[in-house]
Amino acid sequence: MDNQWFQLGYLISAGLFIFGLKMLGHPRTAPRGNQLGAMGMLMAVLTVLLETDLVTRPVLIIAGIALGAAIGSLLAIRVEMTGMPELVALFNGFGGAASALVALAEIYSAIESDTIPKGLELHVAWTAIGLSALVGWMTLTGSLVAFAKLKGGFMILGKWRRTPTWGPSWLNGVKGLIMLSSIVVIYLSVTTPDDFQMVWVLILLACLLGVVLVLPIGGADMPVVVSLLNSLSGIAAAFTGFIISNPVLIIAGSLVGASGLILTFIMCKAMNRRLIDVLFKSFGGSDKQSVTRTKVGSDPDEVAMILDGAQKVIIVPGYGMAVSQCQHQVKEFADLMKEKYDTEVKYAIHPVAGRMPGHMNVLLAEANVPYDQLIEMDEINPEMPEADAAIIIGANDTCNPVARSGEGPLAGMPIIDADLARSVVIIKRSLSVGYAGVDNDLFYMDKTMMLFGDGKKMMMALNSALKEA
Ligand code: NDP
Repeated sequence: MDNQWFQLGYLISAGLFIFGLKMLGHPRTAPRGNQLGAMGMLMAVLTVLLETDLVTRPVLIIAGIALGAAIGSLLAIRVEMTGMPELVALFNGFGGAASALVALAEIYSAIESDTIPKGLELHVAWTAIGLSALVGWMTLTGSLVAFAKLKGGFMILGKWRRTPTWGPSWLNGVKGLIMLSSIVVIYLSVTTPDDFQMVWVLILLACLLGVVLVLPIGGADMPVVVSLLNSLSGIAAAFTGFIISNPVLIIAGSLVGASGLILTFIMCKAMNRRLIDVLFKSFGGSDKQSVTRTKVGSDPDEVAMILDGAQKVIIVPGYGMAVSQCQHQVKEFADLMKEKYDTEVKYAIHPVAGRMPGHMNVLLAEANVPYDQLIEMDEINPEMPEADAAIIIGANDTCNPVARSGEGPLAGMPIIDADLARSVVIIKRSLSVGYAGVDNDLFYMDKTMMLFGDGKKMMMALNSALKEA
């Protein structure tokens, strides 16, 4: 087939990626954006198959596609909505590993077939292969550690063990040393291009780097790391695109790399952190605080009485809403308040609420909550003092006033100012801490009513109480 047709195939798939990404920017257009991205990928795969004449090896290709499709569909079907962040972390890692494996195959086949390039071409190819290996393997091990941290722990020999957050300050020296050594090894691999040993050393260093970079990061900084790893998986793919001279891989990798990096900085801004501080100033040791204080719980009837005639209610959703999947009951609550008391109901969305960017928006959109009621933190906070009640459903760190104190894992993180509302209702199962492991003074304030129980059960009980009030 004419080369121009292949270029056209790549151009169309790159266009579909770009338009798909643009449409992902708004919840209304996001599903269509997702479909466009998938069509772009299909187009890219078909073009590669035709261009590289891989049709001559159908068994290998069909087996690969079937295995990948089976594993992907099984994971996607079986994963709970609350398990999505872990799955995304795992996919980032697999993406990095896939790019690194292609780089490995390229260098191996060049050495084996004695077709190592010379001069400038050697420098460019071997540096790209080295960088792809470094970023790819680092992304794999970093993502595996992130996966373990998001999961919280593992069952080993029938016993639940928490994923450690460990990192003494001297580990920063080790990180720097590994980075420097990796650059030296990439340089050495260019000067001795037929020495495969260098590749193994680089893989080892990159794997180690991924672990030591992510292991000390705990508290509330994980969102930044997950989006950075996402960006790195794209950068690894872009390097691989250079290695195998595939334009669509360069474009797709660059899109993932750039958008992931933008998201990383948005997350940093939301957390009031600098990326460099997240990566090099986390020293582990953010073990969960044990809660010693007590608070008497309220019941749904009592809360319904407080809400009687409320003019403005702000709902603050968090990770617990995702766990209990109570978004539909939350929407029903908002509708009931509107119907009964003509209450103005808004939703306060913290940028890192839940366990992945946009987590709350996705859940609330699923329950058909109008987009214009989802208000971002900076915009909703000034409205908080005029709210009759803030109803917090499974949120904890994102409204913990301790963040204002400048101490501990949440120090400096902007929060939803729920404590400024006239009364506060918190729905969660206990007084236990959130992701960052910090006790929350908001639970013990006089104006706070705790509704202890699973989010869905409590929302259903509250809705029944409201109907009867
Ligand atoms: P938190 O993780 O701080 O707290 C969630 C609360 O939900 C818990 O305290 C828990 O309390 C409660 N909960 C759990 N299950 C249920 C249930 N079935 N019903 C009712 N409540 C339940 O949530 P936030 O959303 O406020 O904060 C998110 C945290 O996650 C931040 O620290 C953020 O940095 C971090 N993070 C965010 C990521 C992102 O991209 N958004 C990625 C990685 C981490 P109890 O057990 O008492 O019920």
